[in-house]
Amino acid sequence: MAVTIGLLDRPEQGRVEAHNGAMRTVLVVEDERDIREVLRRYLEREGLAVLTAANGAEALRHIEQTRPDLILLDLGLPDIDGAEILATSAPRIPVIVLTARSALEDRIDGLRMGADDYIVKPFSPTEVVLRVQAVLSRGGQHRESEDDVRSFGKGMLVIDEARHEVTFACEPLRLTPHEWSLLVSLASTPGRVFSRHELVERIAGYTFEGYERAVDSHVKNVRHKLGPEGRQVIETVVGFGYRLGLTADG
Ligand code: CA
Repeated sequence: MAVTIGLLDRPEQGRVEAHNGAMRTVLVVEDERDIREVLRRYLEREGLAVLTAANGAEALRHIEQTRPDLILLDLGLPDIDGAEILATSAPRIPVIVLTARSALEDRIDGLRMGADDYIVKPFSPTEVVLRVQAVLSRGGQHRESEDDVRSFGKGMLVIDEARHEVTFACEPLRLTPHEWSLLVSLASTPGRVFSRHELVERIAGYTFEGYERAVDSHVKNVRHKLGPEGRQVIETVVGFGYRLGLTADG
């Protein structure tokens, strides 16, 4: 009993520890108090620092002030649509969307907006913790590959994995975490064809119904960001999947 009370009674502790660099911070954005507190308890038990927000305004303040490592985001918030927060924070901070909307179309829209994962209510807190750890460990892999700057197509496309930056024709590309994973996966072996199934495994870590359309939609978004000059960067191989259409430099 004492342990449980201890976990519930330290809302500010994680915040402090988050700044020593060793602890990862998760921002839980959820207007239902019970869900918020259950998630806090489960996440803290796994050694994560937890910040909570009961509405969109609080969430945006936390994102600006603390820069969490991951956001658990309820789309149905009292003041603003959670999707607005997703649009604001998706390019840099991984987001797992929590929602009661279970329709397939909504799942695809959520992924298209840049969420890293999608959990439909009602969910088990244990499942949420596992998904959080999966997303955080994918981010960790990127950080481990230091000084890994690679260029393709005679410097047209440059991927800096340690800094998490991509430039095309000297212009920085603002990619969502999923778009980033897609491009890095294709660039891991230029010219090799990756199936949609393989790509979604690399991007999301697992497959789900409708994943083919989600992959297609990420490809479409990356192509749009690359612009007309970048048309050849991601090639469609009809009936098979996609490949990087540029050769590696050096
Ligand atoms: Ca809600």
